[in-house]
Amino acid sequence: MKKNFVDIHCHYFNGKFAFRELLEISWRKVNGNYPYNRDEKKMRFEFISLPSELKAITEYVASFFSTLGASAEANYQHEQNAFKQSKLNKNHSLPLITSPLMMDIYFVADKGDYLDKTKGINELPDHQYTPIEIAQDEQEMFSSFAKELKKEVLSVIREKQSYSKMQPEGIDTGLHDTEQALDDVIMEFEQTAKEERIGSNENERVQLTRGFRKQLKEINELKSKHPETLFPFFAVDPRRVGVAHLLEENLKNGAFAGVKLYPPQGYLPTHPDLYPIYDLCLKYNVPITAHCSPGGFHTIHKEKEMKTERLDKHGHRKTIEVIPAQGYNLSKCAHEKCIYFADPDNWIQILEDKRYKNLRINLAHFGGEEQFAKYIGRDKQKAEKENWTAKIIKLIKKYDNLYTDLSFHIDGDVAEDINNLMLQHSFLKDRLMFGTDFIMILLNYKLTREKDKALIDYFNHFEGLSEPLFSTNALRFLGK
Ligand SMILES: [Zn+2]
Repeated sequence: MKKNFVDIHCHYFNGKFAFRELLEISWRKVNGNYPYNRDEKKMRFEFISLPSELKAITEYVASFFSTLGASAEANYQHEQNAFKQSKLNKNHSLPLITSPLMMDIYFVADKGDYLDKTKGINELPDHQYTPIEIAQDEQEMFSSFAKELKKEVLSVIREKQSYSKMQPEGIDTGLHDTEQALDDVIMEFEQTAKEERIGSNENERVQLTRGFRKQLKEINELKSKHPETLFPFFAVDPRRVGVAHLLEENLKNGAFAGVKLYPPQGYLPTHPDLYPIYDLCLKYNVPITAHCSPGGFHTIHKEKEMKTERLDKHGHRKTIEVIPAQGYNLSKCAHEKCIYFADPDNWIQILEDKRYKNLRINLAHFGGEEQFAKYIGRDKQKAEKENWTAKIIKLIKKYDNLYTDLSFHIDGDVAEDINNLMLQHSFLKDRLMFGTDFIMILLNYKLTREKDKALIDYFNHFEGLSEPLFSTNALRFLGK
């Protein structure tokens, strides 16, 4: 029997989502309300310009506008078409099954503020929690603030475009579409009253930022249109108040098939509020995909001060300072924090926990393309002692329900490299899964400068891998 191929790791969000979250983060920051506050209504009424620390997020938001500005549905169709035209589809007329992973970027600027007694809330205030509301008397100030932010995003996009080599073909250099998209988002914020509710009363007690709720809604709609070929993953950040409620609702109704974690945003796999999430994964028999490469979209804090929590061996919540292992230089760049949070070894405590021995976990990206290249000795690169690909292989050998995916592997002859690796480590043949990381791969122009062809190129690049990596392994991981 023919089996559908599976893309176990892709994303269908767009620049608008990212700008919605940026706008909410920024407006809250200038009002002293980030990431949340007991007293939601207390706003400060003085104009403060854009906090410089938000520059890094602005950069990231801007980069999304150079991918596809399209809706989740359009991104889904784009992927199906690319697959049909690719060499992977030879003699294989079934549609591609895809697992779009949601993304939660709202806490990217949090450095443990959520632990602050005056800001920290374990339970939401009595009044229902809706995305930030712009009151009548705030409108004017909000408008000028939002315009400022829009200008900033546009100027970063222009800056990016001026590196002519980096400019993909077919981009709207006049930026008309982008401007329109940014204006649309600003309007959404200004017209709070028209915002429609999603879900039941219960999830109104969940902290729903505007970008997150729209993304959730879009994926839900997409799932109902393509129930057989779409298995989305719900993004969890343990700092989002009430997120376990919302997750359970979305697992119960069958909309979601897994959970996406992104530790580089600033939390460890041993964060106390992730344990209820792991319990839900077992209850509904769904897996977890966790970002596991030293790159990606990570916490913006460069300074040393950052706090988080973890559950200790005795099951107690512990507040800890983020202090990376020897050899890391935290003051240098935020990237070091990404390494601290995303290290594969952070999962050992969960993997060793007998309660979770049946939990299926995917440490995504196989440690990242760079680590992988060093591990296999591509271009005579030498693997460092603590190579992440090596760590993941070691963990997979030891733990039966651990997987990894090959998303965002663009360089070299990946099919040949993987086939060789499986000769050395035969247990990998059941645990490696194909993935694209579409739309993120569109940010990389090594594939082709024609955006329409980039994904086809990516599929073709994997020709020569054996079937289990395209289908059986992912279906087992999904519990199908
Ligand atoms: Zn990804």
